[in-house]
Amino acid sequence: MSSRPIYLDNAATTAVDPRVIAAMSSCLGADGDFANPSSANYVYGREASARVERARAEVAALVNAAPEQILFTSGATEANNLALLGAARFHRDRSRHIVTSRTEHPAVLDACRQLEREGCVVTYLKPAPSGIVAVEQVAAALRPDTLLVSLMQVNNEIGVINDIGSIGRLCRGNGVLFHVDAAQSAGKLPIDVQRDAIDLLSLTAHKLHGPKGIGALCVRREPRLGLVPLQFGGGQERGLRSGTLPTHQIVGFGTAYSIAREAMSVDIPRIAGLREQLWGALADIPGIECNGDPVRRVAGILSVTVDGVEGETLLLALADLAVSSGSACASLHAEPSYVLRALGRSDRLAQSTLRLSLGRFTTAREVEQAGIRIRAEIVRLRAGEPRSGACPDAPDDPRYSPEVRRRLHALPGWGDLPDAASVARGRAGNLEQGTEVAFAVRIERNRVAEARFRAFGCPHALAAASWVAEAALGLDCDQLAAWDWQEAASVLGVPPAKFGRLLTLQDAIRAVVRNWPSTTGSTV
Ligand SMILES: *Cc1c(COP(=O)(O)O)cnc(C)c1O
Repeated sequence: MSSRPIYLDNAATTAVDPRVIAAMSSCLGADGDFANPSSANYVYGREASARVERARAEVAALVNAAPEQILFTSGATEANNLALLGAARFHRDRSRHIVTSRTEHPAVLDACRQLEREGCVVTYLKPAPSGIVAVEQVAAALRPDTLLVSLMQVNNEIGVINDIGSIGRLCRGNGVLFHVDAAQSAGKLPIDVQRDAIDLLSLTAHKLHGPKGIGALCVRREPRLGLVPLQFGGGQERGLRSGTLPTHQIVGFGTAYSIAREAMSVDIPRIAGLREQLWGALADIPGIECNGDPVRRVAGILSVTVDGVEGETLLLALADLAVSSGSACASLHAEPSYVLRALGRSDRLAQSTLRLSLGRFTTAREVEQAGIRIRAEIVRLRAGEPRSGACPDAPDDPRYSPEVRRRLHALPGWGDLPDAASVARGRAGNLEQGTEVAFAVRIERNRVAEARFRAFGCPHALAAASWVAEAALGLDCDQLAAWDWQEAASVLGVPPAKFGRLLTLQDAIRAVVRNWPSTTGSTV
């Protein structure tokens, strides 16, 4: 039991509350409300429909909307797409300008990219280094042809809170539609679509202890807001979202939201206290920083950047914690988090970031253990080799090939050679980019007799450098010059996303070739 990692990734998704599971189970079997809620001819269908409508009211209540404003979707991704594509396509002849920010979720950013292909013009606001989009920035971006402003209430990577109310009133005053992605804020902050003048609000169940695969778009009713649907079929959800309503998902969604409405006043201060406890356990580690505004932040998300420790290596060393790097799927990604980059972090710092996110089921004991483990690993990785990403006892993570894993344990070839006429050096990359490689080779009879490297980089970059340090032995200058990173990539099974880092390695080898001592060529 104690060998199960501690789950601190509640911003990616949450465990479903047992009360939600029970409610969902009662909608599946022959004895339950399994019938198609659109089948009004018989009692089974009418009972299923009653449960769907009750859930609709429960979802609406959490955001102070009327039940008829709720359109069920498959989640916040679809809700964001329906809001943006639906509104922009409806109004394409009237206005074509959209305002959003660079730190939105990909479901908003990629929908905006699609709208650009369809002829819209999109302004991507750059938030302050705190991560917050200022009302004044939005005001300055509005144009006579602005149709819609789309902003998240809480950022999923760093947890900062935008001032949705002020931006909503600004938009309403200017006749501009306002869409809010509330996937990370529903149930974690008070939301009131009336008070905050929100025209379109995206919701999801699974970030709030409900099931995955269900969410909603909450749409203003008066005056009526036009939307073009994304899909066509049986005409459910007023023709805006065709498809048989998934009763069990919807009932789970409603139950999760009604539990959250009751539990908010207890959960929010408790989770905020746990986050403070966790930050308190880490804050005095040299070189650690908390990302985002220190005050205007949601209770459950703590994003920390650790200078001087390679991010992927830290994640590997923390295999007993289920945590995220900068963004949900970043672990085998070469790209540092675009959110942290937009806030002015260098690639290296953006890569050395952990997102710790807490939920209803997180305990003080788990937070205490996590704090101890994170501190211990940072200290240990720094003590081993200050600039290295080597992780001597990296667990056997199946995302790395056996050859990469073998090399990470001992890192053969790590080190340096004393200066001598027969030693050629080369280096490439730099720390701020997140990969830096230094190579030294000793040459005898015009061939590599010994090779050493030092590097700061991800485990793949280190394993590849280690591999080259051995593969280079016995090569002459021309052979070394012809060395190609693709060979290391295929031997080590490096994913394409990491190829850029191997190019840095190749650059270091090329620099060695340029520094190859001309005199050694003539020795015996
Ligand atoms: C998780 C998330 C989404 C996507 O929600 P799904 O229901 O998983 O599609 C959208 N926006 C934000 C801010 C999120 O955190």
